Amino acid sequence: MKFTDSHCHLDDKVFTAQLPTLLTQCRQLAINRIIIPAILPANFDSVLALPKQHPKEKTQVSLYPCLGIHPWFLDKLTDIHLEQLANKVAQTRSDIIAIGETGLDGAIAKKAPEHGQSIEDNWAKQYQFFDFQLNLAKAEQLPVIIHHRQSHDKIVPRLKKYQLSKAGIIHGFSGSYQQAKSYLDLGFKLGIGGTITYPRAKKTINAIKRLPLESLVLETDAPSMPISIEAGGVIGQPNSPVHIINVFQVLSEIRAESAEVIATQLEKNLDDMFFSK
Ligand SMILES: [Zn+2]
Repeated sequence: MKFTDSHCHLDDKVFTAQLPTLLTQCRQLAINRIIIPAILPANFDSVLALPKQHPKEKTQVSLYPCLGIHPWFLDKLTDIHLEQLANKVAQTRSDIIAIGETGLDGAIAKKAPEHGQSIEDNWAKQYQFFDFQLNLAKAEQLPVIIHHRQSHDKIVPRLKKYQLSKAGIIHGFSGSYQQAKSYLDLGFKLGIGGTITYPRAKKTINAIKRLPLESLVLETDAPSMPISIEAGGVIGQPNSPVHIINVFQVLSEIRAESAEVIATQLEKNLDDMFFSK
């Protein structure tokens, strides 16, 4: 069996010192590919540098950067940063495999008044950045990696409008079977991560039990989204791409298929979306 972490912030400084060791551990666990989204212009160059600093020839682990702007970081960003993103994508088109992570976040919008901004203005800016990135993905024929929180009702209509040919991944999916289905109908796949290691996430677990295996991919979101202690998480330790194995084990318990069948199909799902020419 082989594994891919389809969403890992490997450029985060918590990993820097131990990165060679971490990549060796990944190789030993057959984690052969790691997809690395960007979150804001300040980290574009660091995600792009990783595959050069840690080449596959040395590590046996392929690193795949993406470029995008996350909805959490818009406060200090302006149109100039969108232009920077578009230029960077144009310059590095053959080095990246997706636009992301982008998305819409309802919890951030709700908190805007605490920072002296109206909820409406916050949504307007989130939409401006999200729409720009959906347009970019469409123009560049790239998949998108989408962050959601309290925002399925806003993201789905947007995706219906844009009809992206390469679709993308709904990162850290949590939600109902119906919400999941509306993404699958648009060609999207669902990123399955730490959420399913918490038994209280009943709605999400029930949805993931019933959805076609063709719609799922594994992810950790490391160093964020820690897995549960029961599933192998360690208190006080940041999440790590090696925990993709723990997420896989929990998924294998939830699903009816054998571990081999699941692992093979999940890799194929990523091949189809990102790695087929
Ligand atoms: Zn992320």
